Amino acid sequence: MHESSLKFDLIVIGGGATGSGIALDASLRGLNVLLLEQNDFAEGTSSRSTKLAHGGVRYLEYAVKHLDKEQYSLVKEGLKERYRLLRNISHLSKKISLITPIYRWWEVPYVYIGLKLYDMISGKYSIGKSSLLSKKEALSINPNIKKEGLKACVKYFDGAFNDARAVIALVQSANEKGATVKNYTQVQNFIFQNDTVCGVEAYDKIAQKSVKYYAKYIVNATGVFADTLRKLADKNAKEILRPSSGIHIVLDKKFLPSKEGLMIPKTKDDRVLFVLPYLGKCLVGTTDKEDKVTQHPEVSDEDIEYLLEHINGYFDMKVTKEDIQASFCGLRPLVDLHKDEDSSELVREHIIEELPCGLLTITGGKWTTYRSMSEELVDILMKKIGSNKTSSTKEYKLVGSRLDQEKIYKKALEFSDDNEAISRLVSLYGDRAVDILKIAKEEAGFGYLDEKYKILKAEYIYSQRYEYVKKPIDFVSRRACISFVDRVEEKKILDKIDELF
Ligand SMILES: Cc1cc2nc3c(=O)[nH]c(=O)nc-3n(C[C@H](O)[C@H](O)[C@H](O)COP(=O)(O)OP(=O)(O)OC[C@H]3O[C@@H](n4cnc5c(N)ncnc54)[C@H](O)[C@@H]3O)c2cc1C
Repeated sequence: MHESSLKFDLIVIGGGATGSGIALDASLRGLNVLLLEQNDFAEGTSSRSTKLAHGGVRYLEYAVKHLDKEQYSLVKEGLKERYRLLRNISHLSKKISLITPIYRWWEVPYVYIGLKLYDMISGKYSIGKSSLLSKKEALSINPNIKKEGLKACVKYFDGAFNDARAVIALVQSANEKGATVKNYTQVQNFIFQNDTVCGVEAYDKIAQKSVKYYAKYIVNATGVFADTLRKLADKNAKEILRPSSGIHIVLDKKFLPSKEGLMIPKTKDDRVLFVLPYLGKCLVGTTDKEDKVTQHPEVSDEDIEYLLEHINGYFDMKVTKEDIQASFCGLRPLVDLHKDEDSSELVREHIIEELPCGLLTITGGKWTTYRSMSEELVDILMKKIGSNKTSSTKEYKLVGSRLDQEKIYKKALEFSDDNEAISRLVSLYGDRAVDILKIAKEEAGFGYLDEKYKILKAEYIYSQRYEYVKKPIDFVSRRACISFVDRVEEKKILDKIDELF
């Protein structure tokens, strides 16, 4: 049968955390799913986050200050989902401790009690207890914390994860359960029958042709592009988003000499500042400012100046532009329901909406809560279908996370004794590292595509075969994750791929 005449139960538009999470949940419940992404999977916001699986310390402060029950519930849900993410995407995530420096005595009990509350709310989903550190203890962990005026620090726990690769694992897991998944396929129009949306016209950027796909249900999970798609389906649809952008820079690991991250809960201009360990480097980022929607948001000189000024102000380390090894900007889909008075009762972090034509939109929320958001959306679909199948994603381990580290290493060592290459592979591909080593042994040899990061040629071949890599940059950015940490090496690897493949 010709591809475009295929009819699916569900088309999901948007291959970020939300869309691929929905594709997995729906496939696990037996639906025939098509997932469409206009660029590479994870190329949008979902690979440009701070990479924290968290309940949101700042949201908790807001909830307490404003006695806001809804915010409190969101923090609680986030903490539950943090626990599940750490367990279900275990090869790409870990628990980390973060140190919060405090410079005013009265803030010591305030921050300590706040973070204790954060632990308490997590209840049985707790991942570690917060504790108070003296100035001396904190500086012995990280001497870069600004010493002048430092009174004490609070150490607390959150999750950290590789966001880009987590999307790939979600897409692979959905695909494994039968979903058809297509990147570089942009939805350009909707197809209607009796004023109800019943399909999409999409453009396959690789084959350079238009294709039509039909489905009983269509979900718009396009993040900051949600309004664009809603208006395409219904020109009267009112905007629900107010996108904002946030940037990160990546520095050498010497700037973060410990495994603990640092968190400044409130800068002078009311932002959060994080300094985190990330892929053997130091990731620095902050919260957002209002911005316009573009497919490839860029980091501006002004943003860089801002971050540098703050790092140098809050930490005893001199960071200059020359120290920046990579930078990236992400657009956050912030739901602004105040524009739509009718929906004001729906004040919440994410929104699920159905237009009169039947297009379902899900947007907003956090990476951390992708699973519960997906479950909520697929529950709505199941109700429409008249099925009572419930979600099984709470316990579902994603592709790559199904063997424990010890077993993977044991298997890997049957193929090679290159420890550096093996630990890199295991940290990125989990139990699939063994498949890459198999390709190296049987076909490609153990030669490196890149010496500095010990990237095997076989890794590129694997990612083309099993991880939907269509362009070399897909590999270097969102599979091998080099673009996020080292722009110089990114260029070298791209040249090498050009030469070899
Ligand atoms: C700076 C920053 C830091 C953040 N840090 C954290 C954090 O530490 N922890 C946390 O939990 N959350 C964090 N978030 C929030 C989190 O990253 C987002 O909520 C989440 O990634 C949104 O995922 P999504 O799938 O909805 O959107 P996206 O990842 O943007 O996916 C939507 C996809 O739809 C595609 N698309 C658009 N139009 C079309 C079309 N016409 N056809 C086909 N495809 C289309 C896009 O290309 C895109 O890939 C952060 C956000 C930002 C901006």
